[in-house]
Amino acid sequence: MNKNSSNIMALAPNTSNKRETICIFGTGDFGRALGHKMIQSGYPVVFGSRSTQKSSLIPKDAEVLSHAEAAQKAAIIIIAIQRQHYNFLTSLAEILHGKVLVDVSNNLKINQYPESNAEYLAQLVPGAKVVKAFNTVSAWALQSGTLDASRQVFVCGDDMEAKQRVMDIVRALGLTPLDHGSLLAAQEIENYPLQLFPMWKFPILLSLCLTAFFFFYCLIRDVIYSYVYDNKDFSFFIAISIPNRICPILALILLALVYLPGVLAAIIQLYRGTKYRRFPDWLDKWMLCRKQLGLVALAFASLHVLYTLVIPIRYFVRWRMSSQIISQALNNKTEPLNNTYVWLSDSYLALGILGFFLFVLLGITSLPSVSNNVNWREFRFVQSKLGYLTLILCTAHTLVYGGNRFLSPSSYRWYLPNAYMLSLIVPCIVLVVKFVLIFPCLDKPLTRIRQGWERNPQYSE
Ligand code: NAP
Repeated sequence: MNKNSSNIMALAPNTSNKRETICIFGTGDFGRALGHKMIQSGYPVVFGSRSTQKSSLIPKDAEVLSHAEAAQKAAIIIIAIQRQHYNFLTSLAEILHGKVLVDVSNNLKINQYPESNAEYLAQLVPGAKVVKAFNTVSAWALQSGTLDASRQVFVCGDDMEAKQRVMDIVRALGLTPLDHGSLLAAQEIENYPLQLFPMWKFPILLSLCLTAFFFFYCLIRDVIYSYVYDNKDFSFFIAISIPNRICPILALILLALVYLPGVLAAIIQLYRGTKYRRFPDWLDKWMLCRKQLGLVALAFASLHVLYTLVIPIRYFVRWRMSSQIISQALNNKTEPLNNTYVWLSDSYLALGILGFFLFVLLGITSLPSVSNNVNWREFRFVQSKLGYLTLILCTAHTLVYGGNRFLSPSSYRWYLPNAYMLSLIVPCIVLVVKFVLIFPCLDKPLTRIRQGWERNPQYSE
């Protein structure tokens, strides 16, 4: 058989692709996990340790030497040691001169030290090229291979070539390097793993405050008022009735708060006549957590659906219905079907179902796996146009639920209106202002401003 020599060459192992040796200082959890991953990816690994005795936990293909001996064997040294033990590195300054030192360390508190650990390392070993990387990847994820959520590795450093070499290693390990610029960015990168749901803080705090407010509001109106005036004990409302009032109220208010910052931003841009001046910080932060606000709102809407589904099986509801039927039978008088009520009730339910369906659709499109598969225009269409439609449907659902009770004096207890009336304030403001903003006399200048036009260019920052 006539063999094609070029094919044989392609299949032959490419010796020039041999990976360079990597040195890892520290045989702790992270050093071992990273060493293991590097060996799997084809890198020869040598550990620098205080003890050269090889334990069974250390990958069997790796060498364990003293720090000085190990450092001499590689041009790239990963410092898998806590910052407080860095001092010994000064004694190795000569050996480490010109080498790439990768700082992987994290702290226990945000901004724990005046300078980042990577900058501190650069001060201790001035002749070395320090690169910050790998600190957002956990030893457990490296070892178990469950890196899906933490595939990104933030990299920063002052030496471009050193940074590039570290980024090549990151890629070879099957991870994604993200260049964060110079070593000045190290503090920010070190703070990432210490942040606790930064984007969720505001939505969760806000929903906790609103929940507490509406809980006491409903408690006063629906339980305490009835007890004081009618001597009736409706305390069992706390279990289902009150939560089923609070959930739709919060869902509606939070959904409106997703769209309120966009409306405020439009007013600010129209007033300033430019898009090139920064929004106030509070508005910037509010805009950044709109997705989280929307997801919390969706959670409340889903709870409302669940609470509503159990209404027919509630003892109180069944008792009230049977009492009504018995009283009609005793009085020998049946109530005729009221077409207005039928229409109000059916349209209220239909608006709720449609509103919830679109709400779920919005939630699904905000998932990264879905949003990554739609282009910018499609994403904006769903989040803006369908979002406003959801807000309109949910607001209409609440308005129709109120029906003709808005003006009825019996729905005011201690001069307090029904809680759902309060929930309509923010959504109605958002929808009215949005409606005004789509008038051509405002929409046209706003569109031009968003395309870069400026009314008074000399005032922009
Ligand atoms: P560790 O298990 O405590 O290991 C630290 C290693 O440092 C020790 O095993 C020891 O290695 C060495 N060491 C300790 N005291 C020393 C001293 N006085 N002088 C010289 N070397 C000393 O810590 P780790 O979890 O592996 O973390 C190592 C670094 O990686 C830390 O900076 C941490 O912030 C960072 N990190 C860890 C994770 C993680 O998931 N664990 C994730 C990201 C970043 P020898 O006995 O071999 O000398």
